[in-house]
Parts: sequence; C-alpha cells; structure tokens
Amino acid sequence: QKAVVIVGAGQAGAQVAQSLRQGGFEGPIRMIGDEAYPPYQRPPLSKKYLLGEMAEDGLFLRPSAFYEAQSIDLIPGVRVSGINRSAKRLTLQNGDTLDYGKLVLATGTRARPLPLPGADLEGVLSLRSIGDVQSIRQKLADAKRLVIVGAGYIGLEVAAVAQTLGVEVTVLEAADRPLKRVVSPIISAFYTQLHTLKGVTLRLETGVQAIEGDAGKVSGVRVSDAEVVAADLVLVAIGALPNDDLAEAAGLDVDNGILVDGAGQTSDEDIYACGDCTRFFSTRYERSVRMESVQNAIDQAKIVAQSLIGVEVDYDPLPWFWSDQYHTKLQIAGLSEGYDDTKLVGDPGDDKFYVAYLFKNKLIAVDSVNTPRSHMMARRVIGEQWRDGLLPAV
Ligand code: FAD
Repeated sequence: QKAVVIVGAGQAGAQVAQSLRQGGFEGPIRMIGDEAYPPYQRPPLSKKYLLGEMAEDGLFLRPSAFYEAQSIDLIPGVRVSGINRSAKRLTLQNGDTLDYGKLVLATGTRARPLPLPGADLEGVLSLRSIGDVQSIRQKLADAKRLVIVGAGYIGLEVAAVAQTLGVEVTVLEAADRPLKRVVSPIISAFYTQLHTLKGVTLRLETGVQAIEGDAGKVSGVRVSDAEVVAADLVLVAIGALPNDDLAEAAGLDVDNGILVDGAGQTSDEDIYACGDCTRFFSTRYERSVRMESVQNAIDQAKIVAQSLIGVEVDYDPLPWFWSDQYHTKLQIAGLSEGYDDTKLVGDPGDDKFYVAYLFKNKLIAVDSVNTPRSHMMARRVIGEQWRDGLLPAV
C-alpha cells in the first residue's frame, strides 16, 4: 500500500492516523507537524493549563510511544512548504521531499493578526499553541494590567483565568455584546454580568485604533484620539484564519477554508482535508460552514480515514462546542445562526439555564449553562418540531 501522508499533527491529523490503524489500514502513515510537540488538545490552553491546574503531559492526545507502537511515523518540528500534485511529492522547509500516495491536509488555523500600528510590540500576544501559553504565563506573572482585544471564547476564557490569578483585566470589544457572532443576547448578557461581577472591565462598542509602546514594549491600547487604556500585556483574540495557503498554492479549490465534500475529499481526488482548515456544505443547516471545534476535528478526521479505507461516507455533523469560564460551563449544540425564535428554560440568576433556538418552530440549537443533561438531550432532539416537554426543565 502507498503511504498516507498527513500534514499537521494536531487534533484532526492525529485522529486520521489513529482511525486508519483502527480501520485496518496497514500501509505507511507519516504525519508531519511544524510544532515541536506530539499532537495535543488545545481547549485547556485557555483554561486549566493557563491557570496552572493542568500539567503539560495532560495536553497530549496520546503518549509518544503510541505512535511508535502503531507504526505511525511522526515527524515533528518541520513545516511543509509545497505540494507538487503531479509528482505527488511534498517539499519540506528543511529541503527534504516526501512522496505520498494519498495526502491529508489537517493544518488547522492561526490567530488572526491585528492589522494596526504597534501590533508587533513586545508584550502583544495571541494564543494558539503551547508555546504561546508558556510566554503568556511567564508574562502574566509580572503583569499588573492585561488588556484583551476581542470578547470571543478565547478572550473571555483568558479574562476569567487572569482575573482569577489576580491580574487587572480589561476586555475591549467592538460589538455591542460579547460572543455576538455565536450566541443570543441572553447568553451574552449572562457573561457580561458574570465577568463584571468578578471584576473584569468589559468595554463594549470599543474599537481599537493602535497599540502604544514605550521603548519597544507595549504600554497601552489606544481606543480613541483622547484615550489610551494602560496595559503591560495585550492579548489579541480576534478570531482565527484557516491555514489554507498551502492548498491554494497547489491549485486546490479554497474559499476561506479548503473546500471538501462529504467524504472529506478536496478538488484533487488524492488529497483529503479535515478539521479547522476545511469548509464544507452542511445539508443539515443548508449552508457552507467552516468550524473550529474539537467535535468537527475528530468527526471529520474519522470520515477521512473511512474514505481512505474505501468506506462510503457522507459527513453531516451535529456540531457541538463548550467553553469554561470561572465556575460555568457553556455547552453549545447545533448552530444557532439564523434562528427566528428562542425559548429560555431555567433562570440565569441561578447560573443554570438553557436557551433553545428555533427556526420555523424547529429546534436548531441549544446553548446551556451548567446543565450538561440539557446539552446531551439537545444533541438527541435537534431537528425536531418544538413542543412542550421536548426538552425538560434544567
Ligand atoms: P490544530 O489542532 O490547530 O492542528 C493543526 C496543526 O497543523 C498545528 O499544529 C499547526 O501548527 C500544523 N500546521 C499548519 N500548517 C502546517 C504546515 N504547512 N506544515 C506542518 N504543520 C502545519 N474547541 C472546542 O471544541 N472547545 C473548546 O473549548 C476549545 N477551546 C479552544 C481554546 C484555544 C485556546 C484554541 C486555540 C482552540 C480551542 N478550540 C476549542 C478549538 C480546537 O482546539 C480546534 O478546533 C482543533 O484543535 C482543530 O484541530 P485541527 O487538527 O484542525 O487543527
């Protein structure tokens, strides 16, 4: 059998390799990643690992010995710089080449850079990798004032951790509420109140004009001609961009993500892709989507492995996601975008409730806070017509 070569040794890449072996694939598997580590999970990076409640070992998806035992040739610390599709050959940044029979792109995303003056000053950071957390943690230890640009999941999770560690935290958000892109006003209001009660300064409808510095080091964030918010550390958390440039340079179809079909196949029949870097059509939600979640990385990777083994598959996931902030666990089932009605069940004042999102009276998504039971129920009944008792009390 010809080699399956996986580019990107993250959540999705590791799952492809593992599922190939589980499915009985006996040919060579090579996985190349540009990070120095074996595949690891990212969610704890902005939660327990940043807080210091989880050791580095807890991040790794499998011990290194697993890859050896499974004859998965893991090549860390090397970037793939080109794909020659006619020769079916990869070029690596160290000058080596590597031939493939089938290729899997699992390159993930990168933090969206802040396109403003001062973004390259020392003390302006983003959070995507173990390395990023190590430098944030080290700098947090000496920092008094952290300013976070962006009130998305990562911004709010880091705010919760830093506040817990005793750092003074200000979050700047251009929109009129946090998490606006992903949740309803009820959930946004809950998190606004939670962070405010904990002592975080959450400034909404506040755009950033520039990062200000002193002797090459960050000193504040300019929010208007008249005002600079003082900071000795700035976290830029304004979303992520798909790593689809390698695919694009090789002439594959991309559109803010590598385009794949329900089998995980790209526009080249010998090249598959999975995880954060892909965009695909969701039949369930009748639109093209690009997801950034562990659920999608794992499930789409399994689909790709099955395709490679020759099983016919059609990926149409029920997306789910979670976010931990202080004592709260937010769990999201389905995609709420486009809803035309909501039902609130339980009381946000009790820190235990959920919001059901409907479209044409059909349940399309549920966001639940501190009620895992409701989340699990929701995952079973999404797609059904709304009726009393469809989802129980919290
Ligand atoms: P990744 O895990 O990012 O792996 C891609 C790998 O490919 C990376 O190591 C990258 O460096 C490497 N790579 C890229 N280009 C090349 C190249 N040319 N050559 C070699 N290697 C390359 N999801 C949830 O569901 N719940 C959460 O609570 C949650 N929290 C998160 C918190 C943080 C701080 C972050 C950053 C993400 C979080 N996510 C969460 C998202 C989740 O981690 C991702 O969806 C998941 O990691 C995607 O897996 P992936 O394999 O597609 O990409």
